[in-house]
Amino acid sequence: MKLVLKGGRIIDPSQELDIIGDVLVSDGLIAAVGDKIDEPGADVIDARGLIVAPGLVDMHVHLREPGLEAKEDIASGTKAAAAGGFTTVCSMPNTRPVVDSAILVAGMLQQAKEEGTVNVGVIGALSKGQEGRELAEIGDMLLNGAVAISDDGHYVESARLLRTGLEYAMMFGGIVISHAEDETLAGDGFMHEGAVSAMLGLRGRPAVAEDIAVARDILLAEYTGGAIHIAHVSTAGAVECIRAAKKRGVRVTAEATPHHLTLTDAVVIGFNTATKVNPPLRSVEHVEALIAGLKDGTIDAIATDHAPHAFEEKDMEFRYAPSGFAGLETAVGVILTELYHKGKLSINEVIESMSVAPARILGLAAGTLKTGAAADIVVIDLEKEWTVDSKNFYTRGKCTPFEGNTLRGKAVATIVGGRVVMQDGEVK
Ligand SMILES: [Zn+2]
Repeated sequence: MKLVLKGGRIIDPSQELDIIGDVLVSDGLIAAVGDKIDEPGADVIDARGLIVAPGLVDMHVHLREPGLEAKEDIASGTKAAAAGGFTTVCSMPNTRPVVDSAILVAGMLQQAKEEGTVNVGVIGALSKGQEGRELAEIGDMLLNGAVAISDDGHYVESARLLRTGLEYAMMFGGIVISHAEDETLAGDGFMHEGAVSAMLGLRGRPAVAEDIAVARDILLAEYTGGAIHIAHVSTAGAVECIRAAKKRGVRVTAEATPHHLTLTDAVVIGFNTATKVNPPLRSVEHVEALIAGLKDGTIDAIATDHAPHAFEEKDMEFRYAPSGFAGLETAVGVILTELYHKGKLSINEVIESMSVAPARILGLAAGTLKTGAAADIVVIDLEKEWTVDSKNFYTRGKCTPFEGNTLRGKAVATIVGGRVVMQDGEVK
């Protein structure tokens, strides 16, 4: 089966490509990218006026399977991914049971192959049961297809355990992803500690709790020579720490989420539980530091931390509501509206951070339109205006701080392995 995407602006930072042209897909692979490709008998997607780019890669997603399917499962989560323009998502292991063994990794991969609309990478736990006491089967998991190791959802309190985890992961060429918030300092807080938390009378999670955790984890990476990736960076201090570490040659990479890059703690006023997340939404100086970090390469990637909860769970008092919300279906719109259209990031930088960089960090065969690569492609309409309505989401997590917002920019087609899995918002 052949497919030609005609006349789009092809942006592929993996090969410094930015041209108007055509992309030919044949047998699931990129067959050619060029000026004008005519292929008799091929299906055609008219991409004039649209961006054609490597499919987006989300390295931080909670698919909730196994065990928490009322929140999400592989089928619903990967449909949401396709709707959002993602061709690969990587699932975090804080499930029931926790994905902490090679057999569970293999099981997830098999199930994702059968039920997934997009590609799924599986992240294995660092500690057994994510309990922070005993190392999980890190080597076995990496040898059996895990793309990284993480206790995400929890900070690894024991420096000794993280040290050993980094050393094991390094032996097998893997990286450790850190959820960096010192829980002894932040654990009983509900939002960012600052003027707004004081006004609302809610206990805060201070930025320094993240700064401390990031600093320690980076020092351990530096000491062991292992590779660490800092998830959902949200503070100016963390950005500074990562920037300095990169200058020293530490093997550290980092991601920021669309919500931390575009929202402040002011949105918590009103106690909307859709604004509750860990780490919390911060004040404006932190948001500005994150954007500057993304711009200068300190922060490599944008990842959603898509964390769906059942509606009933979020529908309660702010203090008791679980943290996190859906992100896959709003990410492109939010980033384009707030960063691209406001002149803070170029479209090339958006594609780099949402596709090329996460693929590179995890060593995935993704994030490129090079000839011979899998035909994982996103088509984006930079100008399309739409209103966020969670009723239309494919995810089961009908909860987002962007509800009702009018956004400018949307993925309009998603192609996975040469197959069109989403077109005009409809997942096939
Ligand atoms: Zn996390």
